[in-house]
Amino acid sequence: MSDVSGSELRALMARVPSVEKVMASAEFAALLAEYGRTQVLGAVREALDTWRAGAQSGDASVSALDVAQLKSAVEAALRKRHESRLRSVFNLTGTVLHTNLGRALLPDEAVQAVMKALTQPANLEFDLGTGKRGDRDDLIDELICELTGAEAATVVNNNAAAVLLTLSALASKKEVIVSRGELVEIGGAFRIPDIMSRAGAKLREVGTTNRTHLKDYEEAIGPQTALLMKVHASNYAISGFTKEVSLDEITPLAQARGLAVAVDLGSGTLVDLSQWGLPRETTVRETVEAGADLVTFSGDKLLGGPQAGLIVGRRDLIAKIKKHPLKRALRVGKLTLAALEPVLQLHRAPERLTERLTTLRLLTRAADDIRLAAERVQPALQHAVGERYAVTAEPMFSQIGSGALPVDVLPSYGLVVRMADGKRGGRQLLALEKMLREMARPVIGRIAEDALRLDLRCLEAADEAQLVEQLKGARA
Ligand SMILES: *Cc1c(COP(=O)(O)O)cnc(C)c1O
Repeated sequence: MSDVSGSELRALMARVPSVEKVMASAEFAALLAEYGRTQVLGAVREALDTWRAGAQSGDASVSALDVAQLKSAVEAALRKRHESRLRSVFNLTGTVLHTNLGRALLPDEAVQAVMKALTQPANLEFDLGTGKRGDRDDLIDELICELTGAEAATVVNNNAAAVLLTLSALASKKEVIVSRGELVEIGGAFRIPDIMSRAGAKLREVGTTNRTHLKDYEEAIGPQTALLMKVHASNYAISGFTKEVSLDEITPLAQARGLAVAVDLGSGTLVDLSQWGLPRETTVRETVEAGADLVTFSGDKLLGGPQAGLIVGRRDLIAKIKKHPLKRALRVGKLTLAALEPVLQLHRAPERLTERLTTLRLLTRAADDIRLAAERVQPALQHAVGERYAVTAEPMFSQIGSGALPVDVLPSYGLVVRMADGKRGGRQLLALEKMLREMARPVIGRIAEDALRLDLRCLEAADEAQLVEQLKGARA
């Protein structure tokens, strides 16, 4: 800082070009064409204000301002303003269905369908057979029924909405019996007891956290009971002295008492994952066959599709759900339906699913294949982080994520960054994590056991090339 004298300041200010002159200059023509007069004018005024404030405060770095300098300042400001806030990242967390990173990645068929739906009118609610108004669920419910064995189906915005709508339509002002072992919270703000009260239903808890018996359900049934409900524990596992009442045991009881059983499967898969060596999950079809009257599940977890909540089950109950006013509020848009249909279509050929469905391809990717990727990326990462850090390719375990099968892990491979001097380097690792997160395409890993860990399971070929390119151009 140095003192700019009053006369020097006046001289500097006098040489600042006028706003009118700037806007009319040849240098600004391209900016005006791209961003329009309103935005450019605002950015010019802001840049001039900043310059004046700097000059008045006696900032020695402030010198005379010309149109070219002003143009680069304005251009940078406008470009920054127009950067999308929703940015592509590299998901190297090891969690395939990462809720905070957008869960399922969609197959190309779904991408193409969404593009079409975005740019061309479609028969969203128009019956092409009769020329009359149609129902958007008609586009997709037959396919869902074919794949799940259910009588009827409907789709809403997400699975939380599916549960809310189901309870609102079938159990408002009535009681719903749920085991204490299944009163789960699924991250964010989804808690079964809260959803229950929002839906106007009364939660009737039975059993204990670790053990619930059929007679607990039996004794809780009363004149106010509307539903027996089972909820997939999703993100935690109880082990040890436990007892859960299976759907096979509950449905005969419900039938004998004339009650319906609803199952919130959460992740809901349509195929038996154990055929690919993945942990076994009860499929939606098995749940329907076991006698569930209604099943709710997510579109963007194991199904590998867009964010959506699917409700399948008995025709009369689905009809009731579709008539509820909340259905209108929670309905899906055309982009969701456009993306969901091809994802469901792919499930018709389960033998090809591990190639075609992105989520399943990532989940079943062989550790050896991931190891080769780790070995290819290692030199570029070592270059980018510098010799203070040591980068090695090592085996690690990925997770499915999104509450699916929390205790099971998938053998994977990745890059592990530690301090080269063998120290723990807590702060340096955090700094490195930040540097990677602030790259043009942010690299998201995780710190564990005194190392930054980048699991390469979700890094497929095109992304790998892009990551290597980005790392080559970086240097810590
Ligand atoms: C994930 C999950 C939900 C919420 O589903 P969203 O699609 O995220 O709304 C509800 N119930 C269970 C059991 C879940 O696992």
